[in-house]
Amino acid sequence: MTNPLTPYIKAEVHTAALGFTQKVAIIEYPEYILHYQGLDSIDEGCDTRLLTAIAPCLVPEYDYFIVVYSMADMNKDLDVYNALILHELGHIHYPATGIVDVEIEAACDAHAVKYGYGQALKNLLRTGTEIFFMGLTPEEVEEAKALPEIQLLTDCLNERIRRLNV
Ligand SMILES: [Zn+2]
Repeated sequence: MTNPLTPYIKAEVHTAALGFTQKVAIIEYPEYILHYQGLDSIDEGCDTRLLTAIAPCLVPEYDYFIVVYSMADMNKDLDVYNALILHELGHIHYPATGIVDVEIEAACDAHAVKYGYGQALKNLLRTGTEIFFMGLTPEEVEEAKALPEIQLLTDCLNERIRRLNV
């Protein structure tokens, strides 16, 4: 049986050089990201790189897929690209649980720092809250900021930036 995701595969990660035995491919699969993040659509011009995720895969060729919304966005900056891939590889050792967990995210950020991409990651995270407020008017943004789940996400992001002491 051929792998139905083959057309989506954009690159392989050279994981062995990073001390991993798992085989990992990068796939561009916007529908998965929308579903995973619970979104209907992404605003035009919104930076989609922070929506990157990693998922175990059941096809024999790979152990994990790193799923990106847009390769075009990913390719905007090679340092950010590497930082995000290293962060996601970190989730192989520290799996995301589906709830916002700053300890898990910071441990994965540390993996990017280890390889020299802490500053690139920090720069991206600093732009990060815009993604929470897509499609909202300024008044709605103010209301959204008061929501507990948005506060949790914002707190997690700010704590990650604080710990990225690079
Ligand atoms: Zn993460």
